[in-house]
Amino acid sequence: MAKVIAVTNQKGGVGKTTTSVNLAAALAVAEQRVLVVDNDPQGNATMGLGYDKRAQEVTTYQVLMGEVPIQEAVLPTEANSARGPDLVPGNSDLSGAEVELVDQDSRERRLRRALADIQDDYDYILIDCPPSLNLLTVNALVAAHSVLIPIQTEYYALEGLSQLMEVIQKIRRRSNPQLRIEGLLLTMFDNRNNLANQVSEEVRSHFGRKVYETMIPRNVRLGEAPSYGMPVIYYDALCRGARSYMDLANEIMDLGVPA
Ligand code: ATP
Ligand code: MG
Repeated sequence: MAKVIAVTNQKGGVGKTTTSVNLAAALAVAEQRVLVVDNDPQGNATMGLGYDKRAQEVTTYQVLMGEVPIQEAVLPTEANSARGPDLVPGNSDLSGAEVELVDQDSRERRLRRALADIQDDYDYILIDCPPSLNLLTVNALVAAHSVLIPIQTEYYALEGLSQLMEVIQKIRRRSNPQLRIEGLLLTMFDNRNNLANQVSEEVRSHFGRKVYETMIPRNVRLGEAPSYGMPVIYYDALCRGARSYMDLANEIMDLGVPA
């Protein structure tokens, strides 16, 4: 059964999508069966995996609305004729979901129900969340076994984290008691920068072993790869960004199977 990981932080631009796409590809290179669910109206994970978000008629939106079975929304990716992560694409259609689901039954459990149908087809399912604690994010947290929280190593890094923790706590009480913190991931780290070093120490002293040993460095290749519509590991496998996501994949696989 797949381990379902929600990649979440309501702060924008902290590396959620970069992590979803590149961790997924690194896990796929390690011969894991991986699905990325693009759960963000921005559709960045969709573009980053090489699909034109505007051309997609079947997306996470139709799945949430119960209009199509999730199997029909899955797109394959490949690189050098090896299997890459599968993708359920997302685009601006998703911005309607919040409003349209508001008075629907079990509106918070839509994604969980959909994923139940394909859990046996994958080892890992990564859900890329929007920069918000809205109903889309709640659907991801209700569907997930665990939460991976990217944290950008900059001054306001910890801002908003207590609010996110409260939401996680509420979801545990209400509908998903199993939900764990998978880990906190320090991103865009620059070790020549004193502030980044301070922030990473602060996060580690607050959260201890919940923080991954692997830190994702600031790396130009990671920023460039999306414009080629491919994960960095297929574009420049030896760059520091690619190697760091490989290290993260190994760290996650070592932590073992779903709780
Ligand atoms: P949003 O909240 O808008 O969904 P996000 O949390 O998904 O944003 P990303 O889109 O992954 O964040 O990253 C924000 C920007 O920073 C992107 O342009 C991305 O290419 C770049 N970026 C992310 N991680 C790195 C890194 N380690 N090194 C260099 N650039 C990075
Ligand atoms: Mg994003």
